[in-house]
Amino acid sequence: MIIVLKTSATPEQIAGFTEMLKTNYGVSVNRWDGVHSTVLGLIGDTTQVDSEFIDAQDIVESVKRVQEPYKKANRKFHPENTVIKINDTVSIGDGSLHIMAGPCSVESEAQIVQIAKDVKQSGATLLRGGAFKPRTSPYAFQGLKAEGLDLLKTARKETGLPIVTEIMRVSHIDMFENVDIIQVGARNMQNFELLKELGKTRKPILLKRGLSSTIEEWLMSAEYIMAGGNNNVMLCERGIRTYENFTRNTLDVSAIPIIKKLSHLPVIVDPSHASGKSWLVEPLAMAAVAAGADGLIIEVHNDPPHALSDGAQSLTPAQFDKVAKKVFALKAALAEQQ
Ligand code: PEP
Ligand code: MN
Repeated sequence: MIIVLKTSATPEQIAGFTEMLKTNYGVSVNRWDGVHSTVLGLIGDTTQVDSEFIDAQDIVESVKRVQEPYKKANRKFHPENTVIKINDTVSIGDGSLHIMAGPCSVESEAQIVQIAKDVKQSGATLLRGGAFKPRTSPYAFQGLKAEGLDLLKTARKETGLPIVTEIMRVSHIDMFENVDIIQVGARNMQNFELLKELGKTRKPILLKRGLSSTIEEWLMSAEYIMAGGNNNVMLCERGIRTYENFTRNTLDVSAIPIIKKLSHLPVIVDPSHASGKSWLVEPLAMAAVAAGADGLIIEVHNDPPHALSDGAQSLTPAQFDKVAKKVFALKAALAEQQ
């Protein structure tokens, strides 16, 4: 971190400020006295340094971070890719492509079990399904809740597919004990209390990007989980808010290589929520794989027009089969190039 001091700063003020930085943050401070201003360079772990607080001090002209504020999620300190082992056949981040597929909401045993069988047949290696649903309207279907979790476990038993489902409250963590991957939805990306509690578990976490969150904010949310000791974090790009309203959100394809560069964590892409339209799922899924995603999460429903949530973006099992074939073929072709 570089701090430029105002020309009006007195030697006593500079000495006091330097001492404060050393004692409060445990950093060492290098000082350069230029003709017009004095510059301080902070060396050491500056993650604890509140740059806004520093900027607000009387003698400070400007502050610039030269190192990212996230450490555990940072590739600089962990150059090799993180691989998250879910079971004997599913390791995410090892260079293979995994598809999590299933309905937006779990609706009934017949629905979830049939969809699980269908998507498995098409090559999906994980089953998704919401039991606790964060809906924009309080009058919309809120999910089957605990019963939904039980039905997901039934579908897992029938197919062997590990399950991915969304948590909304800290008090539900015990209920999610037997879930394979816990999803933190876009709306909860900055629910820091939830992130801290999930950091105390060792469960794989699928952390979706907030609707209007920057890449750095998203990585800082991953850092919250990892700071508690849980390094099993996957980042999920699910589209962000832009001025474009043709699509539900705008898929930020560039986030995929950017995250890969900045972090060692696996990247999963959700083309369903990114577009809101089933016919856009295939091209966005292809773009995500081409850009280096480790996995996809795709909504599939046996009867999209009658789905209790997100029918417009849901693929039928037959449509999903086509998309899965294409993305696996693309992945294989890309692997040949390497
Ligand atoms: C979902 O996966 O069904 C969901 C609600 O996703 P998001 O949090 O990305 O909106
Ligand atoms: Mn959904």
